[in-house]
Amino acid sequence: MGERPTISVVVPLYNEQENVEALHDRLSAVLAAQGLSYEVVFIDDGSRDATAAIVARLLARDPCLAIVRLSRNFGHQAAVSAGLDHARGRAVVVMDGDLQDPPEVIPQFVARWREGFDVVYAVRASRREGALKRLGYFTFYRLFRAVSEIDVPLDSGDFCLMDRRVVDTLRGLPERMRFIRGLRTFVGFRQAGLAYDRDARAAGRPKYTLSALVRLAVDGLISFSGRPLRLVTYIGGFTIAIAAGLAVWVFCDAFWNQTGPRGWASLIVVVLFMGSVQLICLGIIGEYIRLIFLESKGRPSYIVQEYTPARAATPERADA
Ligand code: UDP
Ligand code: MG
Repeated sequence: MGERPTISVVVPLYNEQENVEALHDRLSAVLAAQGLSYEVVFIDDGSRDATAAIVARLLARDPCLAIVRLSRNFGHQAAVSAGLDHARGRAVVVMDGDLQDPPEVIPQFVARWREGFDVVYAVRASRREGALKRLGYFTFYRLFRAVSEIDVPLDSGDFCLMDRRVVDTLRGLPERMRFIRGLRTFVGFRQAGLAYDRDARAAGRPKYTLSALVRLAVDGLISFSGRPLRLVTYIGGFTIAIAAGLAVWVFCDAFWNQTGPRGWASLIVVVLFMGSVQLICLGIIGEYIRLIFLESKGRPSYIVQEYTPARAATPERADA
């Protein structure tokens, strides 16, 4: 396949045996109806279920399918990065493999791209998930917006279309910790949001564990903001001011009242409080050091075991 397909659709998959076939069918139907040349790039992120076998079967009958198999589970963001590195299209769509991102939105992405937008990102008008998870997402996106040094749109995940120029710019960024929705905002170009209703996961359990979600949130915050570090300095200033006030009080008390040893309770409160503030501050600094450490080692964010490119792109219909 020499020429670039018009659209590449990148889908990370981790143990999605219940969804991958339905996804493939719905996606192929939507793309074929568009009359565009396309390829679908499945990234098997070290699945341990039947995902690999099912994908291999789909590959045999679909010449527009490309597969990138990673050597183990590297995580969602790394899998998407692998997909962006292997996608060949003039525009690249990124979507989840559990049908939470409906393929039927893709034609609207393409329409806006044709209007001249370089990035079209989906904004969740609604989501169908548990109340606690929704509250978590709600808080994170607002905190991220308040704290980060870039102006990220609220409630937009990784579901988007990016022009080749944007993809190449993203790929050229040196960092290995890839918080894709942040980097996508960072690179700029002409961006448009598109509201959609996020479906519930079609089948199977979420592949993000709670701790992995928290990790993603912390990494995202840390890599797009230096403000927590400044916060450490502010906390230090604040506690010094309090300590100075207390010192004056203690001194006056000792000089004029001489009431002897009192205040064990207040002492222990101050000690505990200061100890916790210091631990939190060390933790914040530690998060930055961890990222510096990870980046400085220069290890790849993913390792490819096998890449099977698409054998063909569907011919572009003249009326498309
Ligand atoms: N995923 C992945 N590697 C992982 C975890 C998840 O490739 O280590 C994929 C997963 O198969 C799905 C997408 O990333 O296609 C989103 O995962 P999930 O639905 O669990 O996340 P949530 O919708 O809860 O944010
Ligand atoms: Mg999901």
